[in-house]
Amino acid sequence: MAGPPSRGGGSDPDGNLRFDAIIIGAGVIGAAIAYELALLGYRTLNLDRLPAAGYGPTSNSCSIVRAHYSSREGVAMAHEGFSYWQNWEQYLGVRDESGLARYVQTGTILLKSATGHHAKVLDHYRELGVEYEEWDADELARRVPIYDPGSFWPPKRPVAPDFWSDPVAPLEGAIYTPGSGYVNDPQLATHNLQRAAEAHGARFMFRVEVVEILSSPDRVSGVTLSDGRAAHAPIVVNVAGPHSSRINRLAGVEDGMRVKTRALRHEVHHVPAPPGVDFESTGVHTSDGDTGIYFRPESGNNILVGSEDPECDPRVWVDDPDSYDRHVTEAQWEAQVFRLARRIPSLRIPTERKGVVDLYDVSDDWIPIYDRSDLTGFYMAIGTSGNQFKNAPVVGHAMAALIDRVEHGHDHDRSPVKVKTRHTGEQLDLGFYSRLRAVNPDSSYSVNG
Ligand SMILES: Cc1cc2nc3c(=O)[nH]c(=O)nc-3n(C[C@H](O)[C@H](O)[C@H](O)COP(=O)(O)OP(=O)(O)OC[C@H]3O[C@@H](n4cnc5c(N)ncnc54)[C@H](O)[C@@H]3O)c2cc1C
Repeated sequence: MAGPPSRGGGSDPDGNLRFDAIIIGAGVIGAAIAYELALLGYRTLNLDRLPAAGYGPTSNSCSIVRAHYSSREGVAMAHEGFSYWQNWEQYLGVRDESGLARYVQTGTILLKSATGHHAKVLDHYRELGVEYEEWDADELARRVPIYDPGSFWPPKRPVAPDFWSDPVAPLEGAIYTPGSGYVNDPQLATHNLQRAAEAHGARFMFRVEVVEILSSPDRVSGVTLSDGRAAHAPIVVNVAGPHSSRINRLAGVEDGMRVKTRALRHEVHHVPAPPGVDFESTGVHTSDGDTGIYFRPESGNNILVGSEDPECDPRVWVDDPDSYDRHVTEAQWEAQVFRLARRIPSLRIPTERKGVVDLYDVSDDWIPIYDRSDLTGFYMAIGTSGNQFKNAPVVGHAMAALIDRVEHGHDHDRSPVKVKTRHTGEQLDLGFYSRLRAVNPDSSYSVNG
């Protein structure tokens, strides 16, 4: 059992690295777990194959912070996240020589659509005290006059014969949450977490790849790196993003999971705001289930647009996360940008196709797995399904508590750990994120969680 230990961590006389906890991955969640474990006194080591923190999928994250999830648990966690981003400097408690990531609180417009997502969400908002306004169609038109107030349901691809047809009906309205927004630089936010963790004794190593998980018969004992070195710890946490299933297979824990993960390719595009519109300063993050897109302001007076994974958009599952097409495709660019042009008719379609391509690590029900495993000492924070950047600090807090409780003998599988959140005072039941859960039928099975 690893109790809160002495400070330090480092090499033994044989040159082996020895720590209390090894975290595989230094994305935003991996770095947040390091910070929170370090706050509890654990000597942590993050290992990442890339050159710096947050250089993996985190760097291409849209970093949207919003509360609309289909489950109460999802809303509770995201609502708690608002306070961390609104009080980022205080949370970190350190200076970062690179500066601090900034929270841009645009608010979120969740358009009411035939997906019915807004109805589920509203119940949770009321119960959990999420601040919101309900807008009817007139209010929506008044608040965002650049939006077409019509419904184009169902979401479709531009090749559909009725893609450019008139709206089928007026939109019913929207739900507006003033507390939401986005983080301007997700990689910098991760670097901030690294510095905060390091201030409490955490260590980070980059350009090192984990190729083996070491275990004594009944407990994890460390990892082997591709350069042949070993790092030893009685706790290893898999936060490897789209490589999560590969790491789980190395640890031999996949057979003990009812919910698994796999990588999904996702494109995000950037287009200039319509002429005369200062979208960068006045634009609102919008979730448009009616056309199947989400969009938010982006620097340079651009609009960033992604897909909400409607049925018409093909899902491109990726077997090898080290080998997939990283180029923006004409078909998906047109699907997302043309849908945006339906919602914002004054948009000029650019000739140049700009955007980024990266991987979501998606679980079977698009709800993350924050859990232990059948191998004692081996934990996972995976399956973040394109929507957990916002929750990174909350997950850091929850995972550190889960690990600490289990390492002190608590049987999390029988009696799931509950964590009281710092800001909203909610009890997060971590059993909701168990690897042993039945696939959740109430999920949206999309990025909306
Ligand atoms: C295009 C896109 C848009 C998104 N938009 C949003 C959004 O708007 N809002 C939101 O809340 N979330 C969003 N997300 C999701 C969010 O970005 C992720 O949930 C989050 O960044 C995951 O962080 P992570 O710490 O798990 O690590 P990741 O960023 O996934 O990084 C995992 C790290 O593990 C390392 N690694 C893997 N294997 C090994 C190994 N064997 N050895 C060493 N290192 C290894 C990798 O190098 C990588 O750095 C988006 C994701 C993508 C891809």
